[in-house]
Amino acid sequence: MVQSMRVNGERLWSTVMETARFGGTPSGGITRLTLSDADKKARDWFVAQCRSIGCTITVDEVGNIFARRAGTDNTRQPIGFGSHLDTQPSGGKFDGIAGVLSGLETLRTLEENHVTTSAPLELINWTNEEGSRFAPTMIASGAFAGIYTTEYAHGLKDRQGKTFRGELVRIGYLGDRPARDHQLAAYFELHIEQGPILDEEGITIGVVTGAQGQRWYEVNVQGRDSHAGSTPMPVRRDAMLACARITDGVNRIAMNHAPAGMATVGLVEVSPNSRNVIPGHVFFTVDLRHPDGDVLHEMHREYEQLVDRVAGDTRTDIASECVLDLPPTRFDQRCVDIVRDVAGQLCYSHRDIVSGPGHDAVNVARVLPVGMVFIPCVGGISHNETEAARQEDLTAGANVLLQAVLEYDRRTADAA
Ligand SMILES: [Zn+2]
Repeated sequence: MVQSMRVNGERLWSTVMETARFGGTPSGGITRLTLSDADKKARDWFVAQCRSIGCTITVDEVGNIFARRAGTDNTRQPIGFGSHLDTQPSGGKFDGIAGVLSGLETLRTLEENHVTTSAPLELINWTNEEGSRFAPTMIASGAFAGIYTTEYAHGLKDRQGKTFRGELVRIGYLGDRPARDHQLAAYFELHIEQGPILDEEGITIGVVTGAQGQRWYEVNVQGRDSHAGSTPMPVRRDAMLACARITDGVNRIAMNHAPAGMATVGLVEVSPNSRNVIPGHVFFTVDLRHPDGDVLHEMHREYEQLVDRVAGDTRTDIASECVLDLPPTRFDQRCVDIVRDVAGQLCYSHRDIVSGPGHDAVNVARVLPVGMVFIPCVGGISHNETEAARQEDLTAGANVLLQAVLEYDRRTADAA
């Protein structure tokens, strides 16, 4: 029975541990920056594994890898699933990797059980999810979804001035298929939650209903450099004071919309950054998030009022530019229902959850039906070498992925 088929959790776990050597660090983490030598090794390994179970490989012009397993009706568009193999500079063993290797385990399980789906299947490794070496994040799934052009992606440079395209060529992953031309019927992605909810509540599977909206701002505060010892307090134009008040203010805005509202000032550059000079200029960033677009807009309005008020109170000029406006994403109802149904049939504890971070799936959801499966990560810690997941949770997540793909195939074959 196809429904009683289960992944091999031992094999999946040992595969995760095996691939952790590509860019592995002494403290148990991974440094596998996009298009680095370590990334090339992981990609070469991935391609070889997929070929060994009969998959054909396509690489597109931004380096996304599609490993295709034929169906019985290859006129149907493939059902895609996967994630990313790149990591942060001090990344863990699971972020992204858990999704790609659960996908590989799904294909291995089908292969050894001699099960062929109606639609073809495609396991995907998206290039540069992390955005650490080449900003912005999720560039190649964005190119797939038509958010970025290939030219834009190719022209990105790292801190050494090496281009995205040049590094694709160097490691042998510049494909010729246009990123926007690749056709899929739907896309599923397993990922660690990267937050504490599932772990704290002792729940195995997060049924991801969508991702929260984000607004990013870049703020320039212009005050006046002056002497810290002789400038009377009432006449100062202290750019750092304005930054501090806005930092406190956005924190209050988010707290007023708790628990879903979030606000972060994560980057600050103070000038002249001298201990006895009142700062004349500060550049900083603001990141606002909320899953409800109306509330996010309300937070944006409150933020703008805050900026005006602080500028007046501190006698500074404040220019705030919105550089990212990502509306909340709602995943496809049918895909979300399939993930939830399958988790229930497999008797795993589960709950609906909204993703805090962005994922390739969020980009893909602009053009395709998408479903996502979250598994807990210990303590909610991620983007850290100590990032950890439990073997039983990873096995459960991979079983949900396997059965969700099969269920999508069944339901859409019936409809066809
Ligand atoms: Zn990730």
